[in-house]
Amino acid sequence: MKVIAIDGPAGSGKSTVARRLAERLGMDYLDTGAMYRAVTFAALRRGIDPADAEPVARLAKAVDLEVTPGEVRVDGVDATIEIRGPEVSRAVSLVAANPEVRTELVRRQREWAASRGGGVVEGRDIGSVVFPDAQLKVYLTARPEVRAERRAAEVTGLDYETVAADLARRDALDQGRETAPLRVPEGAVELDTSDMTVEEIVDEIVRRLGDG
Ligand code: C5P
Repeated sequence: MKVIAIDGPAGSGKSTVARRLAERLGMDYLDTGAMYRAVTFAALRRGIDPADAEPVARLAKAVDLEVTPGEVRVDGVDATIEIRGPEVSRAVSLVAANPEVRTELVRRQREWAASRGGGVVEGRDIGSVVFPDAQLKVYLTARPEVRAERRAAEVTGLDYETVAADLARRDALDQGRETAPLRVPEGAVELDTSDMTVEEIVDEIVRRLGDG
């Protein structure tokens, strides 16, 4: 199985780079952040408090998730837009800190890769926990203000300050949580993408793949 693991904080360029890399290599691509967002969306929609660990964990096991590059469906409902909205963004790190939710989603991520012989998988714990034997592990970073600018350009209706505050808050939660915190996986190639174009980053990753 050939897995390329791409980790890093929000706005580091993961999604864009992972998608472009997968295209270049003719591989499938999985956005695991969309899976945590989808479970959060399902909880909010059913009136379950995201902080209420037990019902959220039960929901994570039962919910039907279809996560593809262009569309995210949750129990058959198109949630592509809503999972990127402020309500889900506010609550997702809480849901992602739930150990039982993580166990279930990691199981689904491994199943996804096993069923297609690998792929480009993007998230926070892919190289450290989900696929520690990945063929290549990449950790993308960027200066905080660059990351906030990128995110602000992606979302409509939110100003830079709001986006920057949300990113800083999520970084702290994702790095500080007990289960699978965001960190640089052992053996990962670290790239600061602040002053790189998407093509430069993808070229660099392809070059590293050739080296390995
Ligand atoms: O990548 P994205 O910003 O969409 O991820 C949303 C949230 O999902 C992150 O802030 C993090 O709390 C969680 N996440 C995670 N593990 C992953 C992917 C995402 O905890 N592998």
